Amino acid sequence: MPSPCIQVVVALPLWHAFDYRVTPAEYARLHIGMRVRVPFGRRLVTALVTALHASSDGVAHDRRAIDAILDDEAVLTPSLLELAHFAADYYRHPLGDVLFQTLPVLLRQGDSAQIPPELRWYETALGRLGQPELLRTAPRQRRAWQALREEPEGLSPQLAQVLDITMRDLRALEKRGYAEQKEIIPAAPPLCGLAESALPASAEQAHARDSVLADSGFQVSLLMGVTGSGKTEVYLQIIEHLLERGRQALVLVPEISLTPQTLQRFRQRFLCPVLALHSGLSDRERLRAWQQARAGHVGIVVGTRSALFTPLPRLGVIIVDEEHDPSFKQGEGFRYHARDLAVVRARLEQIPIVLGSATPALESLHNAERGRYRLLRLQQRSNRHPPPALHLLDLRHQTLHEGVAESVLARLQQHLDAAHQVLVFLNRRGYAPVLLCHDCGWRLPCPRCSTTPVWHRRLGRVICHHCGIRQPLPQRCAACGSQDLRPLGIGTEKLQEMLAQRFPHYPLWRIDRDSIRSPRELEHTLQSIHRHEPGILLGTQMLAKGHHFAAVTLVVIVDIDAALFASDFRALERCAQLVIQVAGRAGRGDHPGEVLLQTHCSDHPLLQTLVSAGYESFAAALLDERAAMGLPPFGHQALLIAQGRDGEQAQAYLAALAQDLPAAIAPFGAMPAPIERKAGDFRAHLLLQSPSRQALHAALTTLQQRMHEVRPGQLRCWIDVDPQDLS
Ligand code: ADP
Ligand code: ZN
Ligand code: ZN
Repeated sequence: MPSPCIQVVVALPLWHAFDYRVTPAEYARLHIGMRVRVPFGRRLVTALVTALHASSDGVAHDRRAIDAILDDEAVLTPSLLELAHFAADYYRHPLGDVLFQTLPVLLRQGDSAQIPPELRWYETALGRLGQPELLRTAPRQRRAWQALREEPEGLSPQLAQVLDITMRDLRALEKRGYAEQKEIIPAAPPLCGLAESALPASAEQAHARDSVLADSGFQVSLLMGVTGSGKTEVYLQIIEHLLERGRQALVLVPEISLTPQTLQRFRQRFLCPVLALHSGLSDRERLRAWQQARAGHVGIVVGTRSALFTPLPRLGVIIVDEEHDPSFKQGEGFRYHARDLAVVRARLEQIPIVLGSATPALESLHNAERGRYRLLRLQQRSNRHPPPALHLLDLRHQTLHEGVAESVLARLQQHLDAAHQVLVFLNRRGYAPVLLCHDCGWRLPCPRCSTTPVWHRRLGRVICHHCGIRQPLPQRCAACGSQDLRPLGIGTEKLQEMLAQRFPHYPLWRIDRDSIRSPRELEHTLQSIHRHEPGILLGTQMLAKGHHFAAVTLVVIVDIDAALFASDFRALERCAQLVIQVAGRAGRGDHPGEVLLQTHCSDHPLLQTLVSAGYESFAAALLDERAAMGLPPFGHQALLIAQGRDGEQAQAYLAALAQDLPAAIAPFGAMPAPIERKAGDFRAHLLLQSPSRQALHAALTTLQQRMHEVRPGQLRCWIDVDPQDLS
């Protein structure tokens, strides 16, 4: 007798699905996308249903039976389910792991997907008949009773607390028969309405807003607006109108910019709940947020990368702010790009999507050029000042103080004298990136990586920024025994020391991952900066993004030369984006800004283009270079990585895979990775490139098959599709 069976995936990086037997009654209740609990090995695990078979051809009887059904309906909306399937295929990652990564961790452990019912207090029929005088001698009870009368929707625990009504008061009323507790599912709050009115939009802003609002289905808009041009205001106004139409909004921001400032702007503007999803949430908070979103109780979700997978039943628009930011690509495990998947989600949901940036990724500019994306521009700053001018400062023959030219320090003094703030940008943490023996030239290596660790003077430690290992500062050179070890190069800590000595009478705020450990700390520092006293802001890219420093008039970019000669073909693009973003912090208030870019290579042609003609011309020139070399976005790439104790084995394994590739695929390697050793393991790379995405993916399918068949011994192997990090 054929019996129904289901196919499920589990939250493990396994490549296959598993079949289980179900009863006809269970079968009738089940849908694709629901969770079930199944026996797996000797454990019970949570699994997701991916297929249903009404009658399996006689195999079902030797399948194991499921243990329980965990949901009444699918936890994933149809479009999110489809998105996960697409992502698993495209990024070559096991479906089970992808599906469960789109869900809060607690759902993996079997928690409910529903908003938990809330216990509220109500007045009883008897209470309604009672006379307040009855409680003359019990004023607290009387107050509680009064509060129940004023809350026909029930008194929630939160409100009781605000009103200073205790459990004891309510229990006493309950005893009298005047109050009772009931479980209710809170109703969805209204999702529209403004708490403050929108700013009067400029003509450019209005055009951008109205273009997006006129879209009736899927359409990608690239909103390219100079820094300070009011992109956020455009987002806010688009969202305002969509909320009025009963739709919801999803806003993705880079990891670093989910600052209190960003969130505050959304919360200040709208009356509806704005949900913030970031890495600081506990598992419980994350589940709660997910439940609220899925139930349609939130109007707006603002979050980092993984917020892309938030279920929103009436999603009306997706916004990706700072779309060029590298943090949208996940670097581990399921290596997806949240911006690219956001475009896929918008297409599946048939809604508009806005990619915003002052410095769009070359990929996005290329898509706009080809007419796939609509380009919307904001060319004016909202304060009417032109964006700050960039000046190259040639360092050759200059007197330097920890890498900063004397003339630059003098300029700093002038801005401070005028009671303005200055921002000094150096994208390197710590005191010095290399510890060098002055007698023999030996450099302190990381014991686990093929890199040099960074000296953090204040901590008294040498820390590897690749594997995180900390060592005490060595007293002697390991090669010649000399005690003359000297720091080489400059980090923010060393720069801080110099600036504090040079400008002792001004506050100095250092902002990097070592000096700022939590969003709270960042908020404190930002508040101190916003008090607008003259002073110096010093920091890494943590300073670059999203912040609005009204008093900053001078920005100094200390060192860009490393990026000009880096082996990674994206280094120059990243460098230019960072330069423009950092530069954009200048002159946002009442006074115009000025930006000094220190370099030893002031005649570098692309650098000159960036400075004299701006980011767009720079990007066009860089795109020409990429086209000539077949690099992304003209070619498509996938990186195969093999990692293990034995570097030769890793390389040999990839070299074998690289044989018999079709002609449309150009292989680079197999070769040792640029950072050959990381955290004790050797790493080999095989980079595949093809002008045809289709051809590349066909080849990947074959390669993946071979990788499953030929077990690579002690090696870990994976594929990174559209790799962003080639180190
Ligand atoms: P961007 O995101 O493009 O860098 P923001 O949206 O942060 O720019 O805007 C920069 C500043 O300009 C903010 O202080 C914002 O309040 C202000 N602003 C934006 N649009 C307008 C407008 N239409 N009228 C007045 N001020 C505006
Ligand atoms: Zn030495
Ligand atoms: Zn290391």
